[in-house]
Amino acid sequence: MPDTWDTPLSADEIHVLAPFVTNLDRPIFGLRNLPEVVKGALFSRYSRSDKSLRRILLDEFMSAPEAGFAPLVDAALTDERQQMVVTQQAEAFYERVLIGYGDDSVAELGGAHVACESISNIAAKALEDSRIGINPLEKSTRYVAFDRQVNGCYRYYRPAELMASPHATRYVASMDRLFTTYSALMAPVLTYVRGHTPREAGTSLRAYNSATRARALDLLRGLLPMATLTNVGLYGNGRAFEYLLTKLAAAPQQELRELGQALQRELDQLIPAFVKRARTERGAAYARYIAANRAHVATLAHTLLPASQPAAVPAVQLVEFDPDAELKTVAAILYPHTNLPLEQVQAHVATLPPAERQRIITAFVGERGSRFHRPGRAFEETYYTFDLLADLGIYRDLQRHRMLTQERQPYGVQHGYVTPPDLVACGVAETFNAALEQAATTVTAIQADLPDVAPYAVPFAFRVRWRIKLNLREAYHLLELRSARQGHPGYRAIAQEMYRQISGVHPALAAGMRFVDLQDYALERLVAEQRLDAKLHARGEFDATADDTGIDGRGR
Ligand SMILES: Cc1cc2nc3c(=O)[nH]c(=O)nc-3n(C[C@H](O)[C@H](O)[C@H](O)COP(=O)(O)OP(=O)(O)OC[C@H]3O[C@@H](n4cnc5c(N)ncnc54)[C@H](O)[C@@H]3O)c2cc1C
Repeated sequence: MPDTWDTPLSADEIHVLAPFVTNLDRPIFGLRNLPEVVKGALFSRYSRSDKSLRRILLDEFMSAPEAGFAPLVDAALTDERQQMVVTQQAEAFYERVLIGYGDDSVAELGGAHVACESISNIAAKALEDSRIGINPLEKSTRYVAFDRQVNGCYRYYRPAELMASPHATRYVASMDRLFTTYSALMAPVLTYVRGHTPREAGTSLRAYNSATRARALDLLRGLLPMATLTNVGLYGNGRAFEYLLTKLAAAPQQELRELGQALQRELDQLIPAFVKRARTERGAAYARYIAANRAHVATLAHTLLPASQPAAVPAVQLVEFDPDAELKTVAAILYPHTNLPLEQVQAHVATLPPAERQRIITAFVGERGSRFHRPGRAFEETYYTFDLLADLGIYRDLQRHRMLTQERQPYGVQHGYVTPPDLVACGVAETFNAALEQAATTVTAIQADLPDVAPYAVPFAFRVRWRIKLNLREAYHLLELRSARQGHPGYRAIAQEMYRQISGVHPALAAGMRFVDLQDYALERLVAEQRLDAKLHARGEFDATADDTGIDGRGR
């Protein structure tokens, strides 16, 4: 049976789908024989849909006459065998070229789209930890409700090693309670949100329902454990996939190692020459190297670091910055416009009065019409190191940035959890907190015996500590994007605070961050939804009464 939670595929559906996916019955599968734009559009639906990609392809793409799929299906069905032969021949030829060229970067020249469905959030984060060369898109906790049950079971990962242990019953009871609470609180929280932010004249029902529902799901996402099953689509190049496969092979969790093997199987059908080294002795040796070093350093950390309580530090702490940043950045701005050596430019900039330096920075930043007008590379000259302590929901969001260095500490319950003030006002905080506290007891019990799988039971409301080292250019991007009105209030607050701290130490360099939004909003998504209304109007597709979101919101 194809999908574990979707409507089963009929024989006809299997027939038309077969040429476009690398398998029909496993949760990890690749896309093939589809135009690039269709593959991208398919993955983008993950963020708003609870459906499997195969079901989306069938229901929303193949059956939409305007998508022009009929000739594609005919061609694929006729040519499938032919295509396989051509691909195999190309692979053989490519092997010879690759050997001749001998540079790893050749493997960046081909890519693949792979769907990873029904994976835990532990696995999703491991995939998304990739930076260069891998582009993920994940099911959103804001637009999709995670209350669905399949055969009477909530959709969370049950690690084999845990289910074979004496902790199994407790784990299941604890996770069930989180999901039951999440489902039960949805209606009262939505009623509360709608009661506190009534629809204003001029706001469509569609936009209002969508924005209020997103707000309710944002408030409740803290109950979801890291075991929550999700879908992630990955587009990546061969070289990046090879490294990802190696890292997965080195992972302590069985789920991740098996995910790596499943990915390898599908990539071997799409870009075999690019990823084959991951399954050779060379790949295995690299994975052993990663695993051995991690274990060694962990032992050293446990031995050499004091076992004392963590010091109380601000949740957002700028730990390090360059006191000479302004001088170095101004020199970097001028450098491409002269033939002088860098040291000489820096020495000259040191003699300039502050007003002159500011003039140069202002000219470099220019008239920014929007946050998309980003200053250039000279802003990569200076770095900021932040230590952050925030709930896992926020970490999950901010971890998605790639042009920086991020590393986290283990997922756990030792830093406590965050209860959104709105849940207190709504009168459901006690129920919310009780579900989290019983989960914390479960995590602690499992931790003693199975430390690598205990993190599956940690709900998103619990805090995690992580560091971010980023340059000023990425800070402009990240802080303006993540403080934008439509963002989650949790990470908006962090972005606002990071901005304040950077501005505090480098006011002249931060002055150009004009699009950091320091306001608070009751309904973050409303303006974005109203913009969507305008687009629907423009395409003649607007339905003023449409409520495509209902509280279950799974349909679209
Ligand atoms: C309101 C909001 C809702 C979101 N919803 C979802 C969701 O539902 N599902 C989901 O999966 N994600 C979601 N995201 C995350 C989003 O898709 C990005 O992964 C995340 O914001 C990182 O942004 P970025 O790629 O611009 O930044 P970074 O990764 O920090 O990169 C900085 C910049 O470098 C460039 N860059 C980086 N990598 C590449 C690359 N591979 N190719 C070309 N240019 C590159 C781009 O110009 C990019 O803006 C959401 C983000 C926001 C703000």
